[in-house]
Amino acid sequence: MVPVLLVLNAGSSSLKFQVFELGEAEEPLRLFRGLFEGLGGSAHLLIRDGAGNAVADEAFEGPGWGHEEALLHVAAWLRAHGSGLRLAAVGHRVVHGGLAYDAPVHVDAEVLENLERLVPLAPLHQPHNLEPIRILRQRFPDLPQIACFDTAFHRGQPEIAQLFALPHAMTERGVRRYGFHGLSYAYIASVLAAYDPALASSRVVVAHLGNGASLCALDRGRSVATTMGFSALDGLPMGTRCGALDAGVVFYMLREMGLTPDEAEQVLYTQSGLRGVSGLSNDMRRLRSLAGADPDAGRAIDLFVYRIGRELGSLTAALGGLDAVVFTGGIGENDAATRAEVLRGAAWAGFALDEAANAAGGPRLTRGPGPAAWVIPTDEESMIARGIRDALDHARRQPAL
Ligand code: ADP
Repeated sequence: MVPVLLVLNAGSSSLKFQVFELGEAEEPLRLFRGLFEGLGGSAHLLIRDGAGNAVADEAFEGPGWGHEEALLHVAAWLRAHGSGLRLAAVGHRVVHGGLAYDAPVHVDAEVLENLERLVPLAPLHQPHNLEPIRILRQRFPDLPQIACFDTAFHRGQPEIAQLFALPHAMTERGVRRYGFHGLSYAYIASVLAAYDPALASSRVVVAHLGNGASLCALDRGRSVATTMGFSALDGLPMGTRCGALDAGVVFYMLREMGLTPDEAEQVLYTQSGLRGVSGLSNDMRRLRSLAGADPDAGRAIDLFVYRIGRELGSLTAALGGLDAVVFTGGIGENDAATRAEVLRGAAWAGFALDEAANAAGGPRLTRGPGPAAWVIPTDEESMIARGIRDALDHARRQPAL
């Protein structure tokens, strides 16, 4: 039987999963990737094999299809279609690991309790991430489960980069900058040398630009600063999130506009960013197609690019210089126009954009002696698969009590 790893990424109405073969190779081999969407309503499941061919495409109607049903359906599908495969462990993308977890961790009752205590720090994500862990612990108590955190990669930042200028007692309570998208940044850091050996030992800003968006400053592959802070709301404007905001705006929303805290949170998380500014869409592809004719679409894109440029300057200062920029995420990997606009805006840094290479998707976007720009596709799931494998290896090496 071939041991395999199941990687789960659970959202509010979706369950993404991937299955990897647990082999000796540095990069675990991807066998299947699947997406359950519309949980709680009209659910839909699509599974592709390692070559990208659809191997399951099913629709499920009715409220009966929640996360538990989806998870059990995936387990049953794997049993039916994965003959010769044995599930060795499950890895979960968990948004918040707090201060305690700076690496993947085996989830036992105590760890689960610790992670539940972090729910107030990430109320929109953490509960969904933890639910499959709880379900699987009940159904399959002997199955090893490993949590991999979006915050972990940033735990090694200098203390000063993690502080807000708030009363010390609030910092002690956990009100500090954690940073997110860490699995993506850890993956990019791990492959830099494959693109250019010099990158791994230089000062790089990685731009993870998707529906969620942030920048991370890497000094010799380690995170030293990032644009997201206490929550995944800070930093760049995103698909529907506002990004960095004067805290005074929140008081105005509560006092003068009469919004409740929940309503204000909804506005900042779901009605702002590209969607809010354009009044049209959170989808960059759609905004690009409208921008020629619609000034609101153009303004939303311009603000997105402007804010990236400002944060790029800030992270360059944190790094004490800039050797390269890496673009990743759905927009960073696919939208040549955004890349070109960001690099033209950062002409002060000396980027010499190679327009043809950018239009072709890179991977290298610049020429000449100035700082380089690259496109590197991210792969958070394979980072989780590596994390599970390392955690299993570590457990195996522990002396028996
Ligand atoms: P998530 O943060 O949800 O994982 P993604 O990384 O998939 O998001 O990024 C989604 C964003 O990428 C959307 O704004 C989408 O329009 C954009 N995108 C994807 N493909 C393209 C493309 N070919 N051109 C421009 N934007 C694209």
